[in-house]
Amino acid sequence: MRPQRGLGTRSVHAGEAPDPSTGAHGVPMYQNSTYAFSSHEQLEAFRSGQGPHFTYAPRGNPTVRCLELKLADLEGAEAAVAAASGMAAISSCVLHLVAGGGHIVASTDIYEQTRGFLLEDLPAQGATATLVDFSDLTAVEAAITEMTRAIYAEPFSNPTLRVADLPALAAVAHRHDIPLVVDNTFLSPALLRPIEHGADIVVHSATKYLSGHGQVQGGVICGPRHVIGPVTDKLLRLGGAMSPFAAWMLLAGVKTLPLRLERHSGNAARLAALLHAHPAVATVNYPGLPSHPGHDLARGLLGSTSPRFGGMLSFVLQGGPGAIGPFLNALELCSLAVSLGDVSTLIWPFAGTDLIRLSVGIEDIVDLEADLIGALDRLPVSAAAD
Ligand code: PLP
Repeated sequence: MRPQRGLGTRSVHAGEAPDPSTGAHGVPMYQNSTYAFSSHEQLEAFRSGQGPHFTYAPRGNPTVRCLELKLADLEGAEAAVAAASGMAAISSCVLHLVAGGGHIVASTDIYEQTRGFLLEDLPAQGATATLVDFSDLTAVEAAITEMTRAIYAEPFSNPTLRVADLPALAAVAHRHDIPLVVDNTFLSPALLRPIEHGADIVVHSATKYLSGHGQVQGGVICGPRHVIGPVTDKLLRLGGAMSPFAAWMLLAGVKTLPLRLERHSGNAARLAALLHAHPAVATVNYPGLPSHPGHDLARGLLGSTSPRFGGMLSFVLQGGPGAIGPFLNALELCSLAVSLGDVSTLIWPFAGTDLIRLSVGIEDIVDLEADLIGALDRLPVSAAAD
């Protein structure tokens, strides 16, 4: 048997083959909504499970299917289903898991809309969630009840960059016969494949690194067939299927995923070191910094020989909230914009806090360094010391 090909090769080729009817190289965008059967017999064969066939776009589309096969391959999952957004992926997956009134144990450090969904929308479905500090594994286990249907984690949390111990969380989950669900948006399979560390289900906002160019909204759920089947049905009923156009754009984006993450990571490591050393900066959250409390854990997840720690970091200025405006207004290259995982550098201050998140792009590092230093150096030293 041929050994498994490398991640770079699979990012380009997995799930793809020249189009059988035209030989088109590269997956065409099938923008149609329905599929014709050649005869009643063919339809009957399809209905009895004898002849696979596409039927109706929200139920499956050849372009979307290729993307699903590619992402399942990259994550090392049995199957995958694409969704209209990251939140469509997360909500449909969790709703499937808590069917009948279940309970989720999630980290306190997760993306704010996921937290909102767990705490505000689940109760309306007769289900509940408990948020726990995931650095305390005893508290995680203590939060599990007989109604708990999954543990939910972000390996590098958004936006605080706390590191979750996936193997330990998987061990807790499996002791209680429940799955570990991991949101791998921040790292992507180019850097971390949570299933290799014990996770059972992986979800993504494909809007971010998988796309890479800020032009698509999408999500994906990767996992065992017995989960992906019913989640696919749920996505269909909730109207959350991915569009063929989004899948087509994502097929192009994913091809350069490992290349981009290499550059994002290299640039972010340099900027984290710069921020860490600058007197106008109070704290930097970047798991690649040896001083980060989750550094060793992150090395364990990402591989101890030349690990890449991704392109996301967050920091606090010495000058506190008052320094944020002057700093942001002095930047010329970084865009003051929400979202992340884009080839261009995006910076975002979180309302009501002094935390600033930086999604480091793939620009030339000297230009990014000059932009940040220019803005930091302009902060008055006296304000910096306040
Ligand atoms: N998960 C994480 C970690 C995110 O940062 C986001 C969005 O920012 C989502 C999920 C939700 O994705 P989407 O905006 O595509 O619905």
